[in-house]
Amino acid sequence: PPLLFGDERKNSSGLDLTIGEVRENLRKAVAGLKPLAAAPLIGGETLRGENRRAARAPADGAEIGLVSDASPADMSRAIARARAAQPEWDRISGPVRAKILRKMADALETERERFIAILAREGGKTFADGISEVREAADFCRYYARIAENDFVPRTLPGPAGERNLLSLHGRGVFACISPWNFPLAIFTGQIAAALAAGNAVIAKPAEQTPLIAYEAVKLYHRAGLDPDLLHLVMGSGSKIGAALTADPGIDGVAFTGGTDTAWAINRALAAREGPIIPFIAETGGLNGMFVDTTALREQVIDDVILSAFGSAGQRCSALRLLFLPEDTADALIHGLKGAMDALVIGDPSDPATDVGPVIDMDARALLEEHMARLARDAKILHRLAAPEGGSFFPPVLAEIPSPDFLTREVFGPILHVVRYRTDRLEEVAAKLAAQRFGLTLGVHSRIDGFAEDVARLVPAGNFYVNRSMIGAVVGVQPFGGEGLSGTGPKAGGPLALTRYAVERATSINI
Ligand code: GLU
Repeated sequence: PPLLFGDERKNSSGLDLTIGEVRENLRKAVAGLKPLAAAPLIGGETLRGENRRAARAPADGAEIGLVSDASPADMSRAIARARAAQPEWDRISGPVRAKILRKMADALETERERFIAILAREGGKTFADGISEVREAADFCRYYARIAENDFVPRTLPGPAGERNLLSLHGRGVFACISPWNFPLAIFTGQIAAALAAGNAVIAKPAEQTPLIAYEAVKLYHRAGLDPDLLHLVMGSGSKIGAALTADPGIDGVAFTGGTDTAWAINRALAAREGPIIPFIAETGGLNGMFVDTTALREQVIDDVILSAFGSAGQRCSALRLLFLPEDTADALIHGLKGAMDALVIGDPSDPATDVGPVIDMDARALLEEHMARLARDAKILHRLAAPEGGSFFPPVLAEIPSPDFLTREVFGPILHVVRYRTDRLEEVAAKLAAQRFGLTLGVHSRIDGFAEDVARLVPAGNFYVNRSMIGAVVGVQPFGGEGLSGTGPKAGGPLALTRYAVERATSINI
């Protein structure tokens, strides 16, 4: 079939943290981590870069490596080299490109412990999150390899006798891949894998907060056999390097995951360019709601809410932000949630017992504190855990707000907002959420099928989860991505993922 719906490929198996030896190996990997360095990588060569500075671990502020940025001249050189190398990469066709992506997936698995250790130190990620993230990165590589193999070969189309009609997919040229710090390996690797699978060359710009792991991932792509001229790494701020990249006429497409404000800025920059219309794949934030009704199973609601709102310190764009509780059972559920929050271990992400690590940096924490001040003034704080000493910790918070429109933008961290509602007024409260025009994840807890259907009809969202948590979309199983203010699609890890990275060419031959 021309599109890969259903494939026999298996996702990566990860590691089992309940095994003592696995935990011990991860602890050793963290302890054995040498100081890292990340600098622009152009054509496989590591440059000195500019604006050299120390990178610090969010968990304790310790220096973990050195980072430097690309200059505009480095970037132009990278784009020129990518442009020269891309046509051949496109010509060798999907099945050949797939082989290199599979080697990258294997290499990620071989070096899994080291990557998990870097995720813990640089990204403040717990071991459980690190394990899932390395798996997801490998899954993206293998999944897009399958699509490259399956979809990126010319197809014969039916037509009149005496004529041969073909349709083929090709890379667009050079893609800019601009990725976030919250999945600094999975999303970074996934965007690059998608662009490469479709036959493009890539200029990758990682988030400023997480250049170290990005550098390691690019090195690994090159070691897996990718021509270094097909993947260059440029670090720097969004306002300088990001802006210069999207404005450059040598960039043929942009894949971006990050905040809605940045997506607007990129969209405007692309629109201002003369010449070809540039495709823009954006995956942005959400104001994600979960609706609970009176038939929901209490223990299950509590488990799934805690994971969805506070897992990864709430720093997922899929995370639960607004919990809608029915008036009749709200008090009991809030009581249960407070108890479950008290059981959370907040602390060093490289301790296997930790449930919630730090937020990414002090700036992120300051934004959350600002929001807390507003909640304390205009809403009600129901529960707040204590923060450990040192590091950029922001402990989970449960707050109650009067209406979903109290929030108008994504609050990126472990703050869960409860809204009480009357089940006979579902339409009204759901309409207020839908009116915000985000559409990323949505959850329901109910034993009544009709309730889930009503919520899905009232609140459009890209990923809808019923009677389970609403984070942790699995490649090839829950294609991930939103609509409206939450993104353009196509979804990452889904059968259509590569469509916007490619152009279609139809050939008709009179025989
Ligand atoms: N795919 C992730 C999930 O399902 C979220 C990705 C993101 O935060 O950008 O939880």
